[in-house]
Formats: sequence, C-alpha cells, structure tokens
Amino acid sequence: MKFGGSSVADADKIRNVAGRIASAAESGDRVVAVVSARGKTTDGLVQLANEISERPNPREMDMLLSTGERISCALMAMALHDLGHQAVSFTGSQAGIFTDSAHTKARIVEIRADRIKDALAGGNIALVAGFQGMSLDDKNVTTLGRGGSDTTAVALAAAIGADVCEIYTDVTGVFTADPRIVTDAVLLPRISHEEMLEMAAMGSRILALRSVEFARNYDVPLHVRSSFVTDEGTWITKETPDMEQAIVSGIAHKSDEAKITITGVQDQPGVAAAIFTALADALINVDTIIQNMGSDGRADLSFTLPLDELGRALETLEAVKDALGFASLTADDQIGKVTLVGAGMKSNPGIAAKMFRVLAEKDINILMIDTSTIRITVVINRRDVERAVRSLHDAFDLESEAARRAHV
Ligand code: ASP
Ligand code: MG
Repeated sequence: MKFGGSSVADADKIRNVAGRIASAAESGDRVVAVVSARGKTTDGLVQLANEISERPNPREMDMLLSTGERISCALMAMALHDLGHQAVSFTGSQAGIFTDSAHTKARIVEIRADRIKDALAGGNIALVAGFQGMSLDDKNVTTLGRGGSDTTAVALAAAIGADVCEIYTDVTGVFTADPRIVTDAVLLPRISHEEMLEMAAMGSRILALRSVEFARNYDVPLHVRSSFVTDEGTWITKETPDMEQAIVSGIAHKSDEAKITITGVQDQPGVAAAIFTALADALINVDTIIQNMGSDGRADLSFTLPLDELGRALETLEAVKDALGFASLTADDQIGKVTLVGAGMKSNPGIAAKMFRVLAEKDINILMIDTSTIRITVVINRRDVERAVRSLHDAFDLESEAARRAHV
C-alpha cells in the first residue's frame, strides 16, 4: 500500500490512513506500506535549500529531502501502535533499497528486502519511507526524483512478490482525461501497463513514470484508488488476450514543453549523434525529434524538451555550434502536447486521421506528430491544449465505455 502526500497531510489524515492499513492487516493480509512526505513538505524543503544556497550540493539535498518521508513513516507507526498493531518504520536504506549515485534522481539498482521480510514474518506491518535509497557504491542517501514514492512501492512489491501494489491517492483512479479540463471524464476501471506507461510519459501525473516501468517489467498489478473512499479505482495490469481492448483509452496532455529548431545542420553521418550526445551529457530530456529531408547538403532538426530545461539546452548547443557548423538555433517556449492512447489502435486504422480532422475543425495547427503502436501525439501551441483535449474527448465519446472499445 502506498499513500501519497495529500493522504497523510495532517494528524487526522494519518489516523485515517492508519485505519486503512489496519483493516487490511485485520483482513489477513500482510502489509508493507510506503508513505510520502506530508502535504507540501518536499516543496518546503526545496525552498529552504534555495533560501540557503543558490546551488545546493546534490548529496546534501538528498539528506534534506529524504527527511520528509521519514517523518510520515514514523508517525504512521505510532498511529498503528495506538490501533493495537505491531508496526515498524524503515528508511529507504534500512529497507534495502540500493540505487546508483545520481543524487536527486537516483535509479533503484537492487533491493535486498530481508529486513522487510523478517518484519512481516514477525507479525509486523512494515512501513517504508518512500522516494529514497542508498547508493550501492558510496553508501550515501539518495532520492529517486519527484514523485518517487510510487517507484519505491512498486519496486518493493516486485521484490517481495506482493499480490498487488495499491496506490492510494486523493483522486479515485485514472481518468479518460484530466477531470479538471474535461468535466465528463470518467474513471477507467482497467488499463494495461503499456497504456499507462504511455499516459505517464505523455503527461498524466497520477503515477511516476518509472514506477509504471517497474510494474510493466516485473508484472506487478497496480490498483490506483482513493485514500478517502473504499470504492475500487483503476486496475493496471498486463494485457490478457481475452481482455476486451479499448481502441482509445484516454487522453494525456502536457503544457510545459518547449521546442528547439536547429537549421542548416550538415547532412552527413554523425552529426545528429554529436548534437544529441552533447544534450545527453548535459542530462537534457529530449523528446519528439524530427529531421526533415536535406537539401544542398544541409537539413533542419527540431525536437521538444521540458520547458525548464530550455535555457540549459540552448547554452549547451551554443557551445558546440562552431564545432558542428550548423546555421542557426531557434526556440519556441509556447509548446504543448496532446496524446491519444489506446492498445486497440494497433489493429484499427483511421484513428490518426480522425484525430487530425477533429483538430482541423477546431482550427488547431499541428506542429509535429509522433506515434508509437498504441499512441498518437501532436505537438501544438500551448494555448490550444485544453481545447484540443476537450474536443478529442468529445469526438471519440470517451465518456462511454462502449465507444472507447468500438470507435470509427
Ligand atoms: N515527497 C516526494 C515528492 O514530493 C516524493 C513523493 O511524494 O512521491 O516528490
Ligand atoms: Mg505522486
């Protein structure tokens, strides 16, 4: 069971969550619970660091940020004791979560869950501080990147062979689109790991992307549900052949993207490699990439990236401009993306055509198009994103389960 920050924001909420954990234990389940930092604690700690230093040292940043989750998990143990349960809290390193050394965005490389297993065998509820681990090489405290408690929970579930990883949050599950934008968006009772991976990568914020990768790679069934009501939420599982497949399951969007265009790139082997190596070395997360056909030995290259990495990306490219000999760099900081996701797209033609038709009718200009077998993404101006999401939700009737399965 994993509980997000809003579910443990104050004493009453912590007691409520303790009640949920206690009833799971009382029903006979053995429970490991991962908790996030309370409310906006992590934001507060980040702010504190920025008040002290312009460039906080990443190792010390992790020492600081990892405290939020420790607080929640110790408090949760106390609340469970008061309900008459045996419960023990663990930091990430005590729980045996080993990572690489990339401070503030570490990756889990190994889990040695012996202490957790022993705690369970001794009749305890095991509480684990989310979002943190210890680097395998130098034994420092690390954190897994914002939203990383989801990853802690899924990785632990995989390591101990849990039946299910329940993600408790302040919404009732995964919706066909962001309900703040589409008022008739509906809860998806079931979605595949692959579809959820595309949703998370393309802007759905309900689960950290890496947690979904773990769930897919280790086949961990996820159940995203509310901390405040007992209704079932959304099950995220491996696809089974007999599962009825939606053609379009949902729409994800991003509004905080930017686009860089490099013109007059030499049209010869190795140039794209050099450009993207420079960006990768600067740890810039490049997304959709388009290169047009060259003419006169020159080509243009465009790609998207998160808005907050734009400044660094431009600096990085300026620094290699002379070496690579391209003509110019232009940037657009008004970029958004809208993505249709659906496993049934694989075998149903016409979805892209319909998507583009709907956008054309709304006079929304498409800047770039990017697809996978189960997703179609358009890059558009940020101001058009909400309108595009609403029009597509409406045109594909995503509020109707029957329509999701049988469209076009
Ligand atoms: N507390 C961390 C954050 O706010 C990790 C998490 O909540 O999953 O990003
Ligand atoms: Mg979260």
